Amino acid sequence: MSFQTSSIHGGDHLHRSSDVTPPINISTTYKYPKDPSKLVKAKDANYDSIFNSGDYYYSRLSHPNSDLIELILDNICHGNCVVYNSGLSAFFALLTHFNPKHILIGQAYHGCHGIADIFSRNNWTQVLELNHENFLYLQPGDLVHLETPVNPEGIHFDISHYAQLAHEKGAILLVDSTFAPPPLQNPFNQGADIIMHSATKYFGGHSDLLAGIIVAKDLDTKKKFVQDRIYLGTNIGNLESSMLVRSLKTLKLRVLTQSDNCVKLVKYLNDNNDKFPNLIKVVHGSLQSDSFISNQVTGHSPVFSVLLKDEETAKTFPSKLKYFYHATSLGGVESLIEWRAISDTTVDERLLRVSVGVEDVEDLIQDFTQALNQ
Ligand SMILES: *Cc1c(COP(=O)(O)O)cnc(C)c1O
Repeated sequence: MSFQTSSIHGGDHLHRSSDVTPPINISTTYKYPKDPSKLVKAKDANYDSIFNSGDYYYSRLSHPNSDLIELILDNICHGNCVVYNSGLSAFFALLTHFNPKHILIGQAYHGCHGIADIFSRNNWTQVLELNHENFLYLQPGDLVHLETPVNPEGIHFDISHYAQLAHEKGAILLVDSTFAPPPLQNPFNQGADIIMHSATKYFGGHSDLLAGIIVAKDLDTKKKFVQDRIYLGTNIGNLESSMLVRSLKTLKLRVLTQSDNCVKLVKYLNDNNDKFPNLIKVVHGSLQSDSFISNQVTGHSPVFSVLLKDEETAKTFPSKLKYFYHATSLGGVESLIEWRAISDTTVDERLLRVSVGVEDVEDLIQDFTQALNQ
């Protein structure tokens, strides 16, 4: 099934009623079959009798809408998907599963650093900066965490390059692909071993749910993650899963529009940089010239950054905009802008991060222009 058809019909065979929009199932527990011959002892139960089977027991294991999400995502993400109650739950599950002696992690979401630091605090693992020298320390089974495109600029790193360095040491390459969801990039094509997404961002797409996704290459690995998830207690909630099923129907439409709007806005600002004395520079993957990019992505992240003249100009800029809400996060249909110094202790205090939505791009360009001219 192709992408857009899967995102609507990928889970049709699991529908339990004639409702076109599957109901929100708030139940935590499900009635066992009335027929005693259909009752299965726990010691005889297996993955296939519990997950994606249409039978439900307890919602920490799975429930109708979480099963729908995973089946729809399998086609969209070209792998075997496991859904979580947040992006960070997905990263926590990855560290728990691989239990690496060393993690290489560079510029990446601060929360992923936070979890890596907890593992380090508990002496489970040593956290090292992602640079060439530190590959020397890697042993088989260690983990390399690469976020690309990277927060907050939306610029690309070469996945094949890091895959090669990791694999020479027998290490695993994890790609956090949150900033370029399907259909923009598929990191498996460049040699990634496993992929994660914060589905709170583009998969949800409406700034109204938290969720995370792991994409494994094979079903056996997926089964191990699902079995850990039962005991970590990190399955997605019922309400959020139903909203995510809704959101997946328009994932491709939203992401392609957002990416296209972003590239146009970035191009306009960059081409006209000399007309805006307050604008020092625009940073985005679409302005990068590295040759690996055309193989790695079919479109750029809908997130970019601008550097303004000074801290005060950056701090007041969001209040001059009409169509960009001043808020953290990204990926929703509504455009957001954030003075990053509020969320990030390490960032240049003149930097603003922009998450481009699905508004008409002419309005976004006009709004940015009037605010820069004030
Ligand atoms: C938001 C984000 C996360 C964490 O996801 P949550 O759903 O907020 O837990 C991880 N990685 C990246 C790149 C993110 O942007």
